[in-house]
Amino acid sequence: MSSPQDTLQTIFGYPSFRPPQDEIIQTVMDGGDALVLMPTGGGKSLCYQIPALLRSGCGIVISPLIALMKDQVDALRQLGVRASYLNSTLDAVTARQVEEALLAGELDLLYIAPERLKLDRTLSLLQQAPISLFAIDEAHCVSQWGHDFRADYLKLSVLHEYFPNVPRIALTATADARTRSEIINRLDLAEARQFIAGFDRPNIRYRIALKHNAKQQLLRFLKDEHATDAGIIYCLSRKKTEEIAHWLQEQGFNALPYHAGLDAGTRADNQSRFLREDSVIVVATIAFGMGIDKPDVRFVAHLDLPKTVESYYQETGRAGRDGEQANAWMVYGLQDVIKLRQMMGNSEGSEEHKRAEQHRLNAMLGLCEITSCRRQVLLNYFDDVLPEPCGNCDNCLEPVDTWDGTEAARMALSAVYRTGQRFGVKHVVDVLLGAETDKITQYGHDQLPTYGIGKTLDDNQWSSVFRQLVARGYLCVDVERFGALRLEEKCRPLLRGEESIELRRDIKKKEAKRLTKKFLPEDMDAALWEVLRECRRGLADEQGIPPYIIFHDRTLQEMCVTVPKNMEQFSQLGGVGERKLEKYGPNFLQAINNHLADR
Ligand code: ADP
Ligand code: ZN
Repeated sequence: MSSPQDTLQTIFGYPSFRPPQDEIIQTVMDGGDALVLMPTGGGKSLCYQIPALLRSGCGIVISPLIALMKDQVDALRQLGVRASYLNSTLDAVTARQVEEALLAGELDLLYIAPERLKLDRTLSLLQQAPISLFAIDEAHCVSQWGHDFRADYLKLSVLHEYFPNVPRIALTATADARTRSEIINRLDLAEARQFIAGFDRPNIRYRIALKHNAKQQLLRFLKDEHATDAGIIYCLSRKKTEEIAHWLQEQGFNALPYHAGLDAGTRADNQSRFLREDSVIVVATIAFGMGIDKPDVRFVAHLDLPKTVESYYQETGRAGRDGEQANAWMVYGLQDVIKLRQMMGNSEGSEEHKRAEQHRLNAMLGLCEITSCRRQVLLNYFDDVLPEPCGNCDNCLEPVDTWDGTEAARMALSAVYRTGQRFGVKHVVDVLLGAETDKITQYGHDQLPTYGIGKTLDDNQWSSVFRQLVARGYLCVDVERFGALRLEEKCRPLLRGEESIELRRDIKKKEAKRLTKKFLPEDMDAALWEVLRECRRGLADEQGIPPYIIFHDRTLQEMCVTVPKNMEQFSQLGGVGERKLEKYGPNFLQAINNHLADR
């Protein structure tokens, strides 16, 4: 019998395990139960796929995401693994064939939707078949916060009763302690070894910039860093998703809108193009994302501020599931803060509910305004600790300047107070700058002691001060009064001179440095990259599967850097096992050869 290490190399084409994959695999190989908590892209699948291949019998994988099963099974078959699935999309004849293959011992892995498992028919089928293990994917679904599939997942406790000797491995990317203990209770996993790998997504680069001209900023970002990549752009309104998608099309991008107001056919088409084609950008409301498991999403961009850190983390988490470098990019400004604060003020619900919402929005704003490592703050929010700054967020890469904003803040607050807490930012800034507008004359604000006291700062700088004061809860925005600013209790010590305040120095448009010019490694032949993608696309189309099932981006990148000349060199690439070497090596070698000859 071959070892896990051999299987990793020959079947999957990877040189080494990412700890603690090896330990997890050993635990299950030895017949023990395991609870695996690993971030998305961490490599959970191998933890059950390899033991399923090596232990006798078929590994049963319970997964709620029916839409993804076919892709997962296709990907395994590409590697020469005997995999199948059973779910409601199969017709009766096909389902029967799969069941027969299982009984005949012709399957290594079988994916099953959880609702099937409560059927007596399925349980008795499994009792007649040789089973090597049960893998319970997305195990957080048992938790009361796991909503959708909960009822079916709770039934999975029968597995232990019916199959006391078959090892079970439960996997999730949801890290909080509450969910973890619920998984253990509900699935009867008290004896299971726990492998907790934290929550961090180190390959995602978090960047939050000040919004000055969102469309142009987005365009620069896309052109400089993601000219031909797949990505998701989130906007708050349906109308805006269509507008941005349309505009990006005019700029030559393959952009498609997605929101709940589109008819089902269009939505399905756009989603499937996103999954199947190489460089589609989806411009979406939050309606897009659930159950999307495209591994090579290279960026997630936010043109509007998410309401909570949870949503931000979940939405940005759709980038870089293959573990490769990806960008989470956002622009935000004062108007976003005001708009969200207003939306919350207007929302239905009890005072308590509104307070909770405000509280969560404040955490999101805190993340935007923070001048230290963003990842530390993010992880901290989820009770995870990152001891050192990450080195892969904008604040780490380009430390932010701060300035003593105490004087400016006092001026701003007293201008709000003197104008009667009845006006929005624009007017108050006009007062501070001593502008001569009709409104100022009308209300006699040129007679105020604060009139014209703020000329040392310009318009933009004042709006930065106000944004930070609102974001940090010194000022609030009065919903009933069209965005009028009001002082909060928190102002008192600052106004009394008992407290000082450090503000973020926003980088002006011209100075704003770009973090990375290109996503691809410097020494890479960009033309070859396109040639290889074309080759991959052709092979994928022939078989009607998404390109990443042929090879992940990483493998193509390695090809660009190492430029293999023969099968031996090709076999050294990560992600190239025996089957794929034989099946695709010649095509790619040919493409590389042609490219070199053309140069
Ligand atoms: P998860 O299910 O945890 O989100 P996956 O199992 O899909 O993650 O793995 C993410 C990516 O990492 C996949 O492309 C997978 O092939 C790759 N991967 C997993 N383990 C290894 C390894 N030991 N070496 C190299 N790549 C790996
Ligand atoms: Zn950082």
